[in-house]
Amino acid sequence: MPEEFKIITNLFDVDNLQDINIYKSYDGYQALEKALQMSPDEVIETVQESGLAGRGGAWFSAGMKWSFMPKDAPVPSYLCVNADESEPGTFKDRQLLENNPHQLLEGAIIASYAIRAKAAYIYIRGEMWEELEMMEQCISQARDAGLVGKNILGSGFDLEVYTHPGAGAYICGEETGLMQSLEGKRAEPRVKPPFHAQKGIFDCPTTVNNVQTLSYVPHIINQGADWFKGIGSERYPGTFIFCLSGNVKKPGLFELEIGKATMRELIYDYAGGLYEGRELKAVIPGGASTAPMTPDQIDIVMDPSNFLLPGRGEFKGMFGTGGIIVMDDTVCMVDALLNLMNFFAHESCGQCTPCREGCPWTRDIVWRIEHGQGTAEDLDTLMEVADNVAGFLSPRYSTICLFGPAFSYPIQGFVETFRSEFEAHIEQGCCPIHQDKSIKVLG
Ligand code: SF4
Repeated sequence: MPEEFKIITNLFDVDNLQDINIYKSYDGYQALEKALQMSPDEVIETVQESGLAGRGGAWFSAGMKWSFMPKDAPVPSYLCVNADESEPGTFKDRQLLENNPHQLLEGAIIASYAIRAKAAYIYIRGEMWEELEMMEQCISQARDAGLVGKNILGSGFDLEVYTHPGAGAYICGEETGLMQSLEGKRAEPRVKPPFHAQKGIFDCPTTVNNVQTLSYVPHIINQGADWFKGIGSERYPGTFIFCLSGNVKKPGLFELEIGKATMRELIYDYAGGLYEGRELKAVIPGGASTAPMTPDQIDIVMDPSNFLLPGRGEFKGMFGTGGIIVMDDTVCMVDALLNLMNFFAHESCGQCTPCREGCPWTRDIVWRIEHGQGTAEDLDTLMEVADNVAGFLSPRYSTICLFGPAFSYPIQGFVETFRSEFEAHIEQGCCPIHQDKSIKVLG
């Protein structure tokens, strides 16, 4: 199996890395010094040349996104750091915040310089209270060291950095929902266009970047675009943090080069495989909104370009956010889908009818099937409602934001792949799976 390749998790074992002096002793903030000697456009070009793609799920070029920001806007520009990690099964941004907060802060300051932002907002999920407090201390240390505030390191560049706690709503992780929340409004996603490089927070040009994406930036500035381009796959350079959870012996985070390990290696080698006597039944590849894969599909090399979304690859599935949830043969697929649907039905912001009504409606159908009350028509109704919300893995959807596809894709994936199990529930009038929901502790 390929070795782990640690770039942004490399210092996770260092104690007190949230202390700026310790971070500096590992070359911290050298990239910022270097970036400030470059022009903002040179920083953007370097990041664009490196091939860094956003790690929030869309895999769009980070440098290109920055280049959309106006250079001489009459109003201030802003950077938003999306630290509202909420996708079930995904827990890497939280670890990055906890274990190397200055790395993110340095990346955010460099990004702000590149896009000519006057302020950066770090929007942190409400439940991550300790991480929020730690980040506030880091900002204060950076301000004392002349790395935040007026005339940073004598460069003439001014930047304020603020934290903003969310209140734990999934939809605040959607870029426009996040901006609404930041403005003190309900986190109701906005219709696009206008795109936020023109009209973002406070109607000013805004870039939103994910925690993991920004954490790579200091390394790219320090070591150069060619160094980063030489890691990972040709189309998606660099590493990626995979989060393994569910029915595996050693759940956790693994930073690997993109395009090197297979899903099988991730499950059986890195995460220690399944418990004795258990068989693999399904894997959710990249967070709750991705359709499940079956055991015969796990030899796929984990590279977004192999997946239909985002890379238009051959595999009819989504790469997602790296939140891999492993399910063994004691998991009922109807119950697993019900679990996801309970989550999604709770998190819909309620603005658009297909989502507000469709989400609880489909959840109720799945509940009926799991509890032995399903009818022969239910499966077709379930698929029809989901398809009306969004065509499976297609660009067709009837909602304002991608939450619609996010809840309808798993419905379509679960039913398409495990239809016989759904039918068995309906025919037998009960759940036929001997489920084991006990919490396993490694001996
Ligand atoms: Fe809100 Fe759902 Fe519509 Fe998104 S799709 S705007 S979450 S109702």
